[in-house]
Order: sequence, then structure tokens, then C-alpha cells
Amino acid sequence: MESESELFIPKEITHLIPFLGPLHVSLNTRESVFITFHPFFNCMYKSIFGKTKKLAAKPKPWRINLLLYLAHEGWLLIKKYVVKKFGVSKDTSYITFLDLLDNLVPATLDIYTCLFRMNQFEEYIDTIFRLWTAMRRFHRRNYDKIMLAFLSDIHYWKVIQHPIINTLETHLNIFDEYPVENFHSLLRRHTSAKVSTGKSLRRDALFLDHCRHENSFVKSFEPKHDYPYSKKDLDDLVKLSAIFHLDFFDNLYQNPNKAELKTEGKRIKKDYSYFPGIKTQFSSGVLPLGYHSKYRPVVSKLCDRPECIDLSWNDGQVLICGHGYHETCFYILGLRCPHCFDYLSGSIDELSKSYNHRLQLSEEIDSWTDSQVQDDNDDELGNVETISKQIGIDIELKKKISGKLNHLSFSFNLIL
Ligand SMILES: [Zn+2]
Ligand SMILES: [Zn+2]
Repeated sequence: MESESELFIPKEITHLIPFLGPLHVSLNTRESVFITFHPFFNCMYKSIFGKTKKLAAKPKPWRINLLLYLAHEGWLLIKKYVVKKFGVSKDTSYITFLDLLDNLVPATLDIYTCLFRMNQFEEYIDTIFRLWTAMRRFHRRNYDKIMLAFLSDIHYWKVIQHPIINTLETHLNIFDEYPVENFHSLLRRHTSAKVSTGKSLRRDALFLDHCRHENSFVKSFEPKHDYPYSKKDLDDLVKLSAIFHLDFFDNLYQNPNKAELKTEGKRIKKDYSYFPGIKTQFSSGVLPLGYHSKYRPVVSKLCDRPECIDLSWNDGQVLICGHGYHETCFYILGLRCPHCFDYLSGSIDELSKSYNHRLQLSEEIDSWTDSQVQDDNDDELGNVETISKQIGIDIELKKKISGKLNHLSFSFNLIL
């Protein structure tokens, strides 16, 4: 479609290729995972910061980052005890939260800060795919299609051996939207609605860019943004998070097969999940990938290969999707889960059809990137939790682990 205004857009601009912004992937997936699992993070938050605290329905990005970090680091401290105790288990609650802490959270934390910025191209693409599967099952509209479009571009460039693939493989981290987003925030903060023409906005932008590193007079009046927690505070908070995880998984262990899946709603019926220890309902998006396939994991037996009649729980594993297979069965299946493969390939067909359809409609696509990089508002860190000194937290965590482990009857060797 050609409109009049397009005639004035320079060639250099119209030749730009849209590219999935890694910073936005990071922000959007962190927020989506956090909000989908909100009841879990709310319990963790109360356990760490005090029972009376209430977590906002949609906390500021810095608080989401903090809680994801605490959840992840706390999990790393106690993961081996929990995983060893549950062993080969297909318990829905266990697999759901294992998937959260061992798969989803680390993927959202790593995608931009580690994989992208450290030029880990293959791992970056794999993790984008993994995060896409999460966005798909969360029914995160639009974003599930954008990530797929990116993967499709990469695949296409590889197939036709386009030279951009070599650039991406060696210099992935130069395709970073952070400088632009950062400057955009700065510009928005310092310009008013009075700016009406591109020319005057450009002039203001040049002025701001010129001043931003030099204006020491203005700087001396600006409030300082020091991060509110010291390293020691964060270490203590991580241990409190580890204690929460121990209690949480201990409760799941005591209540096997108690996850409930219900269809609720007065007018619009929706599927919800309930887990032991948390009263609030979760959306069905929290369930591992396998629960979204046509063949849900069978909890009463290990192997989900339909032809398999072996009921033993030996020589096999449960995958992070929730399906389990005997080793020999998994080889027969070509080392992949056919149920989840069907679900994902069906999803790709459905979403790409819908994407192409929308492109043909040539709609406004302003709404496509819905999570914005947040401005650094002055009061962002104003509402921070104060934490009391955690005297004896190491002893408490050790006691808790030994208590839980005695309770869960197995021996350990704890080094903290
Ligand atoms: Zn089998
Ligand atoms: Zn599966």
C-alpha cells in the first residue's frame, strides 16, 4: 500500500528490516511469567518480606526482576535436595513448579543479559524458541506471533545463506535496542506535548544528547538512585527464598496428586488450576507444555508412548513438558516428545496463518509491542521494602534442610 506520507520517507528508512528487540523479549517474558505465576510469587513475597505485605497485581519491572532473581538463586541453593527427593515423579504440581524455577525463570533472566549480550547466537535462538513455547501456552496475544516471525526469518536466512546470518553469528549483540530505548525515555521525559514537528523534536533531541553527560549543575539537584539492597542483604533474601521453596516443595511432597484442574466462570468459562498450599487460582497457562497437547501426561504410569504396555517406572525419565518415557521408548520415538511436537507444530500453523492474515489486512500495528521499556521514574525505588537483619539465617536454613530431609528421609551433605 502506498500512501502520500510514505513518499517523504527516505529510502534508507524504508529499507530497514524489522528485528525482534532482545530487551523487549526480556521485559515481556519476565513480566508474562511473573504475572501468570503471580499467586506463587505473592506467597514467596509474603514469606520473605512479612505476612502483611501484599504484592501489586502488576509490580514495577525492578521489583519483578528482584523477585525472579531471588526465586532463581534460592532455588539453586536447594534444587538438588528437592530433585533427588521427588525422583522420577509425574506429579502435576511438582512438574509445574519445577518447570517454573528450573526452566522458565532462568530463560527469562538469561535471554538478554547473558545469551544476547555475550553473543551466544545458537543458545539465544534456542531460548527464544523455548520462551515462544511459554508465550504460546500463556496465550500471550501478538507476542507469540512476533517471536515466531523472528524464528522464521532466521530459518529463512539460513536456508538461502543470506550474509546477515554470518553477522548475527559473530556480532549478535550489536543488534541491541537498548541505546535507542534509553534515549527515547530521556527525550520523553524532557520534552512536552508542545513539540509538534519532527524538525523541532530533532533539534531538542540533539540538544539533550549534547547536554546529557555534561550538565553537572542539574545533576547536583537530581535525587541519587542507589540500589536499596547491599550484597549481604541480597544474600540473606536469597536464603529466605530458599527456605520458602523448601517449605513449598515439602508441602507438595506431602500432598501428591492434589493439583486440581477446574472449569470456572459465571458467563465465560475458563480453565483454572489449583495447587496445594496456595488458595488462589492459577490460569491454565501455568501447566507444563504437555498439558496443552492433545495427549496429556498420564500421572499413574511413567511412559507416555501410546504403544508402550510396560508399566514399570525404571529406566526412564520425566521430561520438563510433563511427559515421561522409558529410555528405549524415547529412542524409538527419535528422541523427541511426539505429543508436544504435534502441539507446537499445530501452533506454528495456526499462528502463522493468523499473522499472515493480519499483514494482509494492513492494520495499524502500534498495539503489537505492548510492554514498554519503563521510564526511570523518580519514585521508582521510593517504595522499597526495608528488611531486618537476618541474624542466624544460615543456621535456620541448615536446620530447615536437615529437618526437611529427615522428614523426607534421606541423607545429605550441606555446604552453604
Ligand atoms: Zn515405554
Ligand atoms: Zn511432551
